[in-house]
Amino acid sequence: MTSRIELARVDLRGRTPTTAELRTALPRGGVDVDSVLHHVRPVVEAIRDRGVEAAQEFSVTFDGVAPAAIRVPAAELERALAELDPAVRAALEVAIARTRVVHADQRRVDTTTEVVPGGTVTERWVPVERVGLYVPGGNAVYPSSVVMNVVPAQAAGVESLVVASPPQAQFGGLPHPTILAAAHLLGVEEVWAVGGAQAVALLSYGGTDTTGAALLPVDMITGPGNIYVTAAKRLCRGLVGIDAEAGPTEIAILADGGADPIHVAADLISQAEHDVLAASVLVTDSVALADAVDAALTAQLAVVKHRERVTSALTGAQSGVVLVDDIDQGLRVVNAYAAEHLEIQTADAAAVAGRVRSAGAVFVGAWSPVSLGDYCAGSNHVLPTAGCARHSSGLSVQTFLRGIHVVEYSEAALKDVAGHVVALANAEDLPAHGQAVRARFEALR
Ligand code: NAD
Repeated sequence: MTSRIELARVDLRGRTPTTAELRTALPRGGVDVDSVLHHVRPVVEAIRDRGVEAAQEFSVTFDGVAPAAIRVPAAELERALAELDPAVRAALEVAIARTRVVHADQRRVDTTTEVVPGGTVTERWVPVERVGLYVPGGNAVYPSSVVMNVVPAQAAGVESLVVASPPQAQFGGLPHPTILAAAHLLGVEEVWAVGGAQAVALLSYGGTDTTGAALLPVDMITGPGNIYVTAAKRLCRGLVGIDAEAGPTEIAILADGGADPIHVAADLISQAEHDVLAASVLVTDSVALADAVDAALTAQLAVVKHRERVTSALTGAQSGVVLVDDIDQGLRVVNAYAAEHLEIQTADAAAVAGRVRSAGAVFVGAWSPVSLGDYCAGSNHVLPTAGCARHSSGLSVQTFLRGIHVVEYSEAALKDVAGHVVALANAEDLPAHGQAVRARFEALR
């Protein structure tokens, strides 16, 4: 028998909290990455000092298996794709095609600005040279994450891509075959069977496996993972670039009394399914909708596969209902919350969505559930969590590009501005800066 679920309620009606007050009043989870740094640091240091040999030892400890050679042979990639369920292959092909269309439009063009006659600044967009994509493989398999990481990197023009994913005991120490199949479908040739913190460290420092295959260090690591993966990313940041520290997934739904409680409940459950720490938050001006969603959650949980996980997530401190006076106040709430995923299920949803200032991605109206964006919308599903949407974007082509300013001035253009350079250099007590300009126009004594 399933017990009745009632989402915890935060009642903001009749109140006018500031944005700062809202941020503390709203339900929010958290992962204490600092608490595992002492555990992960020795892993990173061992990989730095002993490379693949150490990685193999940690795979045995944490994954219960370590294949003799951890570079996945090309034949295994081909076999995984040949044996992939045709329905999954067709779905992956649609997901890849749609994601490619959207990300192709994100490509940047170089721009040249003529600042003055003879003086130009060009901004060149150059892809990161070598990127490591981490694909989780602990509690679940995420072929969709292969798509969401590889497609923007390829669209950006990244030349060298390597995928790392944990070895699986039931597959003889290879990563999950669906991960291998997705990688092969996308044209990724280099896949390594290594997971967790040891994967992040090995991608950062490089190493050579027992067959002599070399894992060259990468310039950047992207991809989600558990707390150990995140801690290793924090420790290796600087040596390599990282996309973000992804926390547990979040969905916020801004809904009015016209929303369908069955859809709202299904969408709250869909993200709670990820993780006991996942956050599902409903923001509504309708007590009747909140009551109906509680009833729909109770009914749907009776037939949900991962019932324990979903129930833990829905009843955790990070989930709940926020009652507001009206949709204007609801918008203030969701903008302060800055959810990874935000659904708008209100009358005139597009107009309401147009007023959203902070969210990883916005899903507009009754026919755009977050699950669509998780797989087949064309949008990217690697999005900022934990309120980071206030200052950051999801994964995109831009993530894999660096903008380089190229400065080119003629003699006359430099001469024209030389006095100003010298004045600013003197103001900063850096006269040698000014002298570097004057030396071009005066004989040095
Ligand atoms: P994972 O691959 O991130 O972690 C598994 C690895 O953790 C193992 O290979 C093992 O080496 C290591 N590990 C396990 N126990 C350890 C211990 N005690 N000490 C040190 N290392 C240990 O897979 P996961 O655990 O399933 O986590 C995946 C995470 O990624 C989930 O939180 C999921 O929600 C998240 N995710 C997020 C997105 C997104 O787009 N935001 C997408 C997919 C997955």
